Amino acid sequence: MITISGKTVCTGVAFGPVFVFSREESTIKRHHIESSDDEIARFEIARKKAIEELGMLYDKAISEVGESNAMIFQIHQMMLEDLDYIESIKNIITDQLINAETAVGQTCDNFVQMFKAMDDDYMRERSADVKDVSERLIKILSGKDNGGIVTSEPVIIVADDLAPSETVQFDKSKILAFVTEGGSTNSHTSILARMMNIPAVIGAKGSLKSEFNGKRAIVDGFTGTMYIDPDEETVKKLTKKKQEIEEQTKFLEKLKGCESVTKDGQRIDLFANIGNVLDVGSVLKNDAEGIGLFRSEFLYLESKDYPSEDVQFGAYKEVLSKMVNKRVIIRTLDIGADKQVGYFNMPKEENPAMGIRAIRICLKRPDIFKTQLRALYRASVFGRLAIMFPMIASEWEILKVLEIIDEVKAELDSEGIAYSNHIELGCMIETPAAAVTSDILSKHLDFFSIGTNDLTQYTLAADRQNPDIGDFCDAHHTAVLRLINTVTQNAHKNNTWVGICGELGADLELTEVFLAMGIDELSVTPNAILPIRKKVIETDVSAIKDKVLSKYLIQS
Ligand code: PEP
Ligand code: MG
Repeated sequence: MITISGKTVCTGVAFGPVFVFSREESTIKRHHIESSDDEIARFEIARKKAIEELGMLYDKAISEVGESNAMIFQIHQMMLEDLDYIESIKNIITDQLINAETAVGQTCDNFVQMFKAMDDDYMRERSADVKDVSERLIKILSGKDNGGIVTSEPVIIVADDLAPSETVQFDKSKILAFVTEGGSTNSHTSILARMMNIPAVIGAKGSLKSEFNGKRAIVDGFTGTMYIDPDEETVKKLTKKKQEIEEQTKFLEKLKGCESVTKDGQRIDLFANIGNVLDVGSVLKNDAEGIGLFRSEFLYLESKDYPSEDVQFGAYKEVLSKMVNKRVIIRTLDIGADKQVGYFNMPKEENPAMGIRAIRICLKRPDIFKTQLRALYRASVFGRLAIMFPMIASEWEILKVLEIIDEVKAELDSEGIAYSNHIELGCMIETPAAAVTSDILSKHLDFFSIGTNDLTQYTLAADRQNPDIGDFCDAHHTAVLRLINTVTQNAHKNNTWVGICGELGADLELTEVFLAMGIDELSVTPNAILPIRKKVIETDVSAIKDKVLSKYLIQS
């Protein structure tokens, strides 16, 4: 048995033969052309065909992964309409008198280099989309069909990496799992795998060997492991795991539409975290009761320049409309620390996690903040909007934020632009300072959302980005749990409601603890909603309250 480890992108267990996916690389033959006009015309025909193909892929993806996820193909269509991209290809054809395939290849290389040189991960990952689009053009120009999988039985696909168009073109009934040597958790392919709910492992070094083709294998999406030629014991263990999952999934499906209420009648809202408009499909599919954290900074991370008020308005409006009056909490810009955006031109800091980030940027540069607030207030008439502010440490920051909001509202009033009068305002509790003074902060706000990822790192002085710090960054630490409890009690005294939107919210080991504390909302990755609902429905808070609180808050 060969064991290969990677990083999990989508859980689940799959058994089946390996299919090593080696795409036919389009080898581009460079040659001289006589007429640049004829060659440009040939390029234009190919470009139109590619746009048409992407339209068909979009339709296919809608039925398989939902409208919001299918949007990646519209983005690819937009890339093919991008004037810089088109101009570059045409200029190369005209200036160098070379064939369109070569011109596309050169332009692709230049654009890929440009994306790869960018500071933020998201933009770097977009280089895969440029490659994908260019590869499609080259295949059309050179008369080669798009490849796919030729197999009669369902397979575990092993690849170096997969482009979104390759992922969605596969016949879903033929795919048991994805395993890639490369890839990243934020790539659209990973997102599509999660949406398709197919076990997926990335970064599985050593998996892409032609000798594995056709071998029996098991993919354990929970641990991010692939076993080739598994031994009997492994087969037995994972067969049991697969059966348990199937039973659980069937059971969880039944919980869609059920209320998240404990045996003794305590309600908790189960909301979802999203990074962009595309994620709303999965929110609805998993029956989330609202959106508890829309990380709006992804709009900034995805742009080459500051997203305009209208661009932001469009995104917020779409999310609010799709959620049809369910609460949507949009967090204002949380740039800085690990989320750097080049065009913000932030000075290099010795210690960025404690530097100019999130609300600190917004207060230092109110022009940026006001643009976002205007977009949010304008969008507020399309649904049930709540806004929250990240990285708050002091009361004066909240007071300043409220002052800026008043200015924005006055501007909108003077322009005759409508906005809702029922927008809830809250802040994230991510600093020990905010947690300890939550009694003061709560007087000004409708709600708190506890960001346990940052609250843990700042409470324990343990960098959340440092993979070596491991046990030192323990979100179960009594100090963190005590702070969560303090925040909840302080907030409730002032009728402020409290949610948790950090990763800890999805930790089933703590669901009882959160219920016992009286947390009002948990906002988690969409796939975690139904397992938590199950746990909530099975819990009798009055019976466990004293025991769990003393276990987690008194003893460490
Ligand atoms: C958190 O800190 O827990 C949080 C939800 O914010 P982010 O992970 O985006 O910093
Ligand atoms: Mg945070």
